[in-house]
Amino acid sequence: MATRDHNELTDLLNQTRQFLMQQQDLFGDMIIAPSGAKLPAPNNSGARAAVSPGEREEAEASVFSYPDEPWVTSATLEELNGAICQCTKCALGATRMKFVFGVGNPRAEVMFIGEGPGADEDAKGEPFVGRAGQLLNKIIGATGMKREDVYICNIVKCRPPNNRAPMPAEEETCTPYLMKQIELVKPKFIICLGRTAAQWILQTADGLAAMRGRMHDFHGIKLIVTYHPAALLRNPEWKKPTWEDMKMFMKALEETRG
Ligand code: URA
Repeated sequence: MATRDHNELTDLLNQTRQFLMQQQDLFGDMIIAPSGAKLPAPNNSGARAAVSPGEREEAEASVFSYPDEPWVTSATLEELNGAICQCTKCALGATRMKFVFGVGNPRAEVMFIGEGPGADEDAKGEPFVGRAGQLLNKIIGATGMKREDVYICNIVKCRPPNNRAPMPAEEETCTPYLMKQIELVKPKFIICLGRTAAQWILQTADGLAAMRGRMHDFHGIKLIVTYHPAALLRNPEWKKPTWEDMKMFMKALEETRG
């Protein structure tokens, strides 16, 4: 197949996938097809198959078990970035322009986690700098904080081509880096931006509707799930519920400050 045809097909598949995921966010795990057939949730790059308590325990243990590699002893974010920024452990390392480590206050009370860099982030080497990033800055501003006060990063540090979601194997390879970032920043709160990041971190197949609106616990860190800013650009009516999520965050933050 010619490269152009292949890229067009990939774009079409991405758009279809995005549409189906939006439908799932709106209506839950079952989509009513015209025939009345029920489509199960996808379990690869979209929603994941439900995990048993044993599998969950294993996954939670594994996110904190670092590989036997030199970077694990990094004492600062700067040192960690320097130690991992040449990473080529997964295929994304071969197609990225820049490694997108993370940005913000190294002692932030809150860490925002997205799924993976897009084209703008890949070009600049900084997370959330495109249109979705501008909106994220506004959301952060509405909480009374500035972008520089919080820490922002992604599950995967390199851009998945054609704006596809990261593959589970890519997420798995990159997760120890994220865990080390969490360990170094020690945030009181994590805010997961969108379904992909939230499902991966919480190791759940739940849709956004089931994950939003409540406080989760991630190894002692309070975790909130909200819409991805890119989804808000496509669906402005989701801005109101996002604000509800932020209000929940602000109230809980006030409580921790006493
Ligand atoms: N979307 C993400 O999930 N992360 C970014 O850094 C940019 C867009």
